[in-house]
Amino acid sequence: MGAIDTMLQNMPMQAWYDFIFIWGWLCIALILILLIIWILVCIWVFRDAESRGMSGVLWLLIVLIIGIIGLIIYLVVREDRKRPVYGYPPQQPYQQVPPQQQPYQYPSQQAGPNFCQGCGARLEPGVTYCSSCGRKV
Ligand SMILES: [Zn+2]
Repeated sequence: MGAIDTMLQNMPMQAWYDFIFIWGWLCIALILILLIIWILVCIWVFRDAESRGMSGVLWLLIVLIIGIIGLIIYLVVREDRKRPVYGYPPQQPYQQVPPQQQPYQYPSQQAGPNFCQGCGARLEPGVTYCSSCGRKV
């Protein structure tokens, strides 16, 4: 009975050691993978913020300190800043018009084909608004 007792006591302990050993390494590998992904995300935030004229160091620190919430905040703020820089809504070309094109009441409007002073598109005779950008002519 003594020999069987020691076997029953030793076997589960050995199995537990194996279990902890394997899962310990799996956990370490998982943590390392997550750490690498997180470092890549931080590098991306830094570069993306710098490319948009924002402070890369500031956003890197925000993401590092707050974590995934900081990343979400950055993505929301980033989308908001994207519109006035890259978006050119056709209804509002006034701010993009160079100053030298501002005086648009030339007498030449009376003769020959008209061209939009905002976007340069050809205008049909008699139209009040540019069909391309919506500017009043
Ligand atoms: Zn136009």
